[in-house]
Amino acid sequence: MKTSLFKSALLALIALALGGLLWGRADQPARAQALPAYDLVITNARIIDGSGNPWFRGDVAIKDGRIARIGRVAPATAAQTIDAKGQILAPGFIDVHTHVESIYNTPTAENFVRMGVTSLVTGNCGSSATDVGQFLGRLKEKPLAVNLATLIGHGSVRRDVMGAEDRAPTADEQKRMEALVEQGMKDGAVGLSTGLIYVPGTYAKTDEIVALARVVSRHGGLYATHMRNEGDKVADAIRESILIGEQAGLPVEISHFKISNKKLWGQTPMTLGLVREARARGLNVTVDQYAYTASSTSLSSRLPSWLHAGGFEEAKKRLADKATRERVINDTKDALKRSGFKDYSFAVVASYNPDKSFNGKSIAEITKQVRNKSDVTSQIEQMLAMYEAGGASMIYHGMNEDDVKRIMAEPFTMIASDAGVRQVDDSVPHPRGYGNNARVLGQYVRNLKLISLEDAIRKMTSLPAQTFGFRARGMIREGFAADIVIFDENTIIDQATFDKPHQYPLGISYVLVNGAVVLANNQLTEARPGVALRGAGSPPTNKEISIR
Ligand SMILES: [Zn+2]
Repeated sequence: MKTSLFKSALLALIALALGGLLWGRADQPARAQALPAYDLVITNARIIDGSGNPWFRGDVAIKDGRIARIGRVAPATAAQTIDAKGQILAPGFIDVHTHVESIYNTPTAENFVRMGVTSLVTGNCGSSATDVGQFLGRLKEKPLAVNLATLIGHGSVRRDVMGAEDRAPTADEQKRMEALVEQGMKDGAVGLSTGLIYVPGTYAKTDEIVALARVVSRHGGLYATHMRNEGDKVADAIRESILIGEQAGLPVEISHFKISNKKLWGQTPMTLGLVREARARGLNVTVDQYAYTASSTSLSSRLPSWLHAGGFEEAKKRLADKATRERVINDTKDALKRSGFKDYSFAVVASYNPDKSFNGKSIAEITKQVRNKSDVTSQIEQMLAMYEAGGASMIYHGMNEDDVKRIMAEPFTMIASDAGVRQVDDSVPHPRGYGNNARVLGQYVRNLKLISLEDAIRKMTSLPAQTFGFRARGMIREGFAADIVIFDENTIIDQATFDKPHQYPLGISYVLVNGAVVLANNQLTEARPGVALRGAGSPPTNKEISIR
């Protein structure tokens, strides 16, 4: 009894001494280095992880650009702390439909950052840099605030190989286009885009695109399309898009899904039905959308495509011929009639360089002002005069709100702006470039209750990441890139309007890209942490492999 007590006491003493020794040893180096475990911790957040699941309360710790821990994290363990004050913390938004070829001139990409967007996919609607390696490579010398991915544009490739010719490519030209697309995929393009209403994409038949899409398919990319028609032939155009995906064996993304023909307003159950049907057959088809009833593109896209064959100089020659000009006017008139609009009061100038006083006015208003006429022929004459003077960027108020809502409510729809990098100037561009994401969250989620907050976030984060192959982005997950937005779901709203578009949204306080704060307390920082997001066709380096 005595001995065993003694033994126990002795053992306890030895254990204490050893424990003390070990404790001391473990403690000393930590004190000496005093290194925090994390670079940054965001506390007191309601986390919406991007999956569509309901929010949960937690802290998010960041280390080396990645999300290192989600849960309870003591602020003392991080070098820097942000108190989210109970606001929503979500993955940074991924905008899969942009036109930011000029982003290196405006590396802050402020209009996107202030919408909570942290990754952009450019090269849409058939128009891109054709040297993808060079385009993405510039990011090293010219750092950007946001991450950047690109598609390779069929129109740009076709123009490089065969100009603005209105004909099928020769076998040799087809091969050269395929080679350019292949190189683009190897250099990191995420897929092929088409713009089948634009010159020269509009001159391509389906088989030309299928052959190029097959190349893209081999390199793991997708097919993103501005379809041949969004008006009276929209159903045929959807079928063509799906057929291309089916024949080439790759996913299809239908860009800025809409109906822009007044006679077909209310037909989105039919057009969405075509996509649902394709998906039911096992075809990977998704769509994207901006949250407005107006589109924006060139003035020239309203004129017959045959006019533009061979390029702008050829078109001007054709218009100088009286009989040909007459034909252009008649074809344009027919197109207007088919679209269901009685005149061009729905067509508003966003930017016209020869006379900036036109910006913000409709073609009907301008024609009244310049020609004192209000008939359609005079309006088309006015459009032709503006086209001949260099053209204009336009806004077309051609959609129906119920259609916009139906498209948004569909599970396979993602939210994308179709915008470029904006600069505050005297143009009157489409407000989508300033407000799109905030408008969805403020107007369609909070005010109209069309979709839940969690579903809206999913459409801006994990769905785009899944569709475009960004594997370690678009979710709040340990190990994922720390692209993060913090906002107040009770105040977030767009402020940009069609009359006054140059206004940033409200309610978004913090934006982080790869763990670096690019918007802090509503102020832009100097940080330029963006990286190039390369597609599956480009062999990744070890460092890149999991952060794409
Ligand atoms: Zn487009």
